[in-house]
Amino acid sequence: MVEASQSGPTSVACTDPFAPSGRSTGKTRAVRAAILHGPTDLRVEDTAAPVAEGDQVTARVLANGLCGSDLSAWKVGRGQPVILGHEIAAEVLTGEHAGRIAVISQTNCCRACPLCLEGLDHYCRSAAGLGAVRFGGVFGGLGELVTCPPDRVLLPPADVDPAVMTLAEPFAVAVRALDRPEVRAARHLVVLGCGPVGLMSIVAARLAGVERIIAVESRPGRAQLAERLGADLVLDPADDIPRALKQVSPVGVDVVVEAAGVLPTIETAWRIIRPGGTVILQGLPKDPFPFDVQRWALKEITVATSIGQSLEQHQSALDAIATRTDIPFDAFVTRRVPLDDTPQAFADLAAGADEIKIIVETSR
Ligand SMILES: [Zn+2]
Ligand SMILES: [Zn+2]
Repeated sequence: MVEASQSGPTSVACTDPFAPSGRSTGKTRAVRAAILHGPTDLRVEDTAAPVAEGDQVTARVLANGLCGSDLSAWKVGRGQPVILGHEIAAEVLTGEHAGRIAVISQTNCCRACPLCLEGLDHYCRSAAGLGAVRFGGVFGGLGELVTCPPDRVLLPPADVDPAVMTLAEPFAVAVRALDRPEVRAARHLVVLGCGPVGLMSIVAARLAGVERIIAVESRPGRAQLAERLGADLVLDPADDIPRALKQVSPVGVDVVVEAAGVLPTIETAWRIIRPGGTVILQGLPKDPFPFDVQRWALKEITVATSIGQSLEQHQSALDAIATRTDIPFDAFVTRRVPLDDTPQAFADLAAGADEIKIIVETSR
């Protein structure tokens, strides 16, 4: 892993990863990358290639999904030039799996400390993920090349379109959030909000064996996709949701997944959850939520939160994408853009473009 330097990605030494056996040629190799220089200042330009250290492998990024966290970083900048992107599918160029198309996990972990051993490897103290906002990564999937430790190369069990493979990361986020016994036992589960996170949660609920999945979404395209992905019923938030759900379960539903990330839907979650039910807060509202403990305690509600994913969950999400051909994962990909169009793609997302996932085909 290349550590952040004061002057950013352009200051690192370079080797030619395309040279025979990956040896240094002594020449500087430039790669194309979308570099975030400051708030909304994203430029596609040449920069020095990342250098594989030790047994790290180098991979050529084929596709990178744009994430809400990338958009947040784009709005405020990172204090130094950085190449964002952590939803990565790439062709492995060096090491044991050279020639394979793989997902590159952004998680960088030691696999030995207590946190890693508990499946909390994305909290490992050694973490410095690729392009991720939280972990201070520098070379992300919006650059043509990335380097990573060999065990961050996740191979799909069957061939998958690289753009669809990138979905393994956001899908693993939903898999982690819903990996709970009460979800597996749920007779009914309501997903509030069908953006990428909510739609991924519908698929995760389906794979967990939830009997009845109800989605709440107003945008027609997203509501239709919710149905295609496995929602048994889709309600419009303009309807009286608590009343409509009385027909599903008069005492309230077993599990609610809040995926809209706004305060009013957290209130809706309280209203529709059954006593003893579980509310999973998947959305990340900008503002703090005034939490009335008494009110939530009087229904004995379990409130669950979750973020990111372990390496194992990332792999199992990829396995599902590659093998569950009955689930139209490709429908998540609503736009593909070449690297040069990345700044416009961010501007469109910031302006509220109705896209589920924009995939940058970095090395197209
Ligand atoms: Zn993401
Ligand atoms: Zn660790």
